[in-house]
Amino acid sequence: MAENDDCIFCKVARGKLPAYILYKDDHVVAFHDINPQAPVHVLIVPIKHIPDLEAEAEEGEGLVGRMFQVAARVAGELRFAKNGYRLVLNNGAGAGQIVPHLHLHMMSGRRFAWPPG
Ligand code: 5GP
Ligand code: ZN
Repeated sequence: MAENDDCIFCKVARGKLPAYILYKDDHVVAFHDINPQAPVHVLIVPIKHIPDLEAEAEEGEGLVGRMFQVAARVAGELRFAKNGYRLVLNNGAGAGQIVPHLHLHMMSGRRFAWPPG
């Protein structure tokens, strides 16, 4: 799945939709969420159009590991790492996934409840 013309995150990854990009390499891009749920809310997204974790497992390229590495790197650069940060991956509509292109939320800068809502 190289690209989906209708996909918001494919457009961001290819510079066709503006976003505040914090990090980008050949495989992963990280940018600020348009509707932040915390003082820092970054989305970490594979460049390839991969709908969910099951599709990612089929592709077998280890992109989920890279996404977590990028999340930690971005958190460190924003100097929030020492206070902690919340990583969330909504996988499937029933879990609250609205954009059907795999993404990891990295949020920081406030207290987070457990269990999550
Ligand atoms: P989900 O509910 O699918 O896990 O999260 C999708 C996230 O994408 C939401 O937090 C939403 O605010 C964010 N989002 C949706 N459209 C855009 C957009 O065009 N640009 C950016 N930067 N974030 C978006
Ligand atoms: Zn996509």
